[in-house]
Amino acid sequence: MTQKLYYFDAYMSEFSADVVSCQSTEKGFAVVLDKTAFYPEGGGQPADTGFINSAAVIDVQEVDGVIYHYCSEEFEPGENVGCSIDFDRRFLNMQLHSGEHILSGYIHQLTGFDNVGFHMGESAVTVDFNGVVSPEILSQAERLANEAIWNNLEIETIYPSDEELESYDYRSKKEIDGQVRLVRIEDADLCACCGTHVHYTGEIGMIKAVAMQNYKSGVRITLHAGARALEDYDAVNKSVRAAGALLAAKPCEVPAGVEHLLEKIDAQKAVITDLRLKLNAVKCEKIEQGTPYYLEVISGGDVKEAQKLCDMICEKAEVGAVFCDGGNEIKYCIASREKDVRPTGEALNTALEGRGGGRAEMVQGSLPCGIDRAVAVWEKITAQANG
Ligand SMILES: [Zn+2]
Repeated sequence: MTQKLYYFDAYMSEFSADVVSCQSTEKGFAVVLDKTAFYPEGGGQPADTGFINSAAVIDVQEVDGVIYHYCSEEFEPGENVGCSIDFDRRFLNMQLHSGEHILSGYIHQLTGFDNVGFHMGESAVTVDFNGVVSPEILSQAERLANEAIWNNLEIETIYPSDEELESYDYRSKKEIDGQVRLVRIEDADLCACCGTHVHYTGEIGMIKAVAMQNYKSGVRITLHAGARALEDYDAVNKSVRAAGALLAAKPCEVPAGVEHLLEKIDAQKAVITDLRLKLNAVKCEKIEQGTPYYLEVISGGDVKEAQKLCDMICEKAEVGAVFCDGGNEIKYCIASREKDVRPTGEALNTALEGRGGGRAEMVQGSLPCGIDRAVAVWEKITAQANG
């Protein structure tokens, strides 16, 4: 068994210890110390990182009470080593873990739902509940959680006897064999936990639920706390202000500004569509009545425009075609009021590895090529008929 210094002092970042054993593994050297302040992955909290002497500790795992530190260097059993933990990372994990307890505690108090999944990722913490939490309840729980921070409540760890435990109403994700470790945050929460926590809620800084989605039969809530909440605020604030500067709007007016911009784009699109229609009508005027095959190329354009133009061409030509030039891809439409245009479409598809089809009077499709190639193939296919 390794002595767990992090349970005596969660703030210990440097310590010395004796090497008990060291084995070579696929993940590096697995070093066992007589005592450690490195927290091994568990209870949703990731493993600490840091150094044993000058060797980087990349992972820490506990198996049957023995803690393995995965290192880049080998150590001799009996050797006394100096250890240091990346405490900025550990402290953030403490802020996040304590913050999660408080928010989960209030959600449980307000809804009766249980936290059934907890994950502390590199960029976000997620908590899963076995019931659907409304946005209003989440916002109420978030407010209460932040009030608990402002009140700087004490966070203490207790190891109750079996009799004491029976009298406690505490949250727990699973049945626990042996000694139960409870984390109590005054009247805010009482929860079984094996992780590391801050001493006072004020150290958490703030708790912010940033997203909630339906998950299984309940919800998954993404939350930030402590230094991460500040980083997130900073990043979001900068991007909203940058968007505001582009729109000449205050940060809180950005959504209205974007909405206004989208309306303007829609109005301009309508004007462009109208102008293109008029331009297409002018183009059609020059078509000689009875032309066997007539092709018109338009820049960009969509299926709707191609169909409309095709229909206009067919008033003069026996077969009308429109190629929408999209750079590396051509969307086409071929129509006729007299002929079956399916063979023409198939001939195009075969020659240019295109896709598409349709009815005898109209086919549509796309060709994975440039406009010059598509036009050349069209001219070849229709050369005979066009004389
Ligand atoms: Zn916990």
